[in-house]
Amino acid sequence: VAAYQKGEWSAYRISPVQAISLSPLAMCFHYGQTVFEGLKAFRMADGKINVFRMESHWKRMNRSLERMAMPPLPQDLFMEGIEELLKQESDWVIDDPEYSLYIRPFVIATEKKLGVDASQEYLFMVVLSPMRAYYNKPLKVKVETDYIRAARGGAGAAKNGGNYGASLLPQINAKKAGFDQIIWLDAKEKQFIEESGTMNILFILDGNRLVTPALSDSILDGITRDSLLKLAEEEGFSVEERPIAIEEICQRIENGERVEAFGAGTAAVISPIETISYNGKSYGTYLAADAGMYRLKNQLSSVRVGKHPDKYGWNHLLDT
Ligand code: PMP
Repeated sequence: VAAYQKGEWSAYRISPVQAISLSPLAMCFHYGQTVFEGLKAFRMADGKINVFRMESHWKRMNRSLERMAMPPLPQDLFMEGIEELLKQESDWVIDDPEYSLYIRPFVIATEKKLGVDASQEYLFMVVLSPMRAYYNKPLKVKVETDYIRAARGGAGAAKNGGNYGASLLPQINAKKAGFDQIIWLDAKEKQFIEESGTMNILFILDGNRLVTPALSDSILDGITRDSLLKLAEEEGFSVEERPIAIEEICQRIENGERVEAFGAGTAAVISPIETISYNGKSYGTYLAADAGMYRLKNQLSSVRVGKHPDKYGWNHLLDT
């Protein structure tokens, strides 16, 4: 934990997880200034601890903080704080590519003030939790046509708590109706695919074209998405980042074309999608063992544990 006051971040302090005390006037309770990240530490084949794409997560955290009118986190506070915490808890990073240690850094506004304003005081905290991949079976997803997650010009590209609060009700409704996840559409035309829950969404068409919605300020710039796009080029896939109308995907499936669909995120890794339900009709995707998404998943897992060359400098190894 570190505190921000009078324009400066304090040094960090590490302690066992414990309750913190905040005034009811703390601004995070009222005006939504909360930002978080989610990254993972893996045990490499040679025993070292790897914090995957640590610098990318720090940069994205600062983009989120900027959008929420919160002060940036210095790189050394973020990196050294997490490194030291992991060194102290290194036994939790076990040698199994299916498991990882999830790292949750977050910043909350703590100034005691009732007026709507940017807080002048903040806390930066990091908690750890061992984790398996979120989903262990292919997902049944529903295209959400009543609610939207984010609009252009809004804060959808920030990892701000409010984005997640607003998506809970539609998600709960979808679960009650028997679905595992939602696909969000764009706010304006309700036609173009944006993302899915806590994942970006990607498709593989004809077995060799990786297609994903182009980034905008209503889509989170996923680090798993970015990693997969780079690995896909290496693997001989063509890569298209473009608007994808939900109708296009449904039409292709109806025409009998081979369409793979999957969600990608740090927590979810790659989660194959089995059916897409749109306007009451269900569309089945391609899930057979030769699907390209499994190849991409293996490649990503291999980079993270040092079994495939780390061409892009994604692995941040701790010297322990
Ligand atoms: N979209 C949303 C809304 C998310 O919360 C996440 C998880 N951070 C993602 C996409 C995937 O991002 P990443 O690959 O960086 O975890």
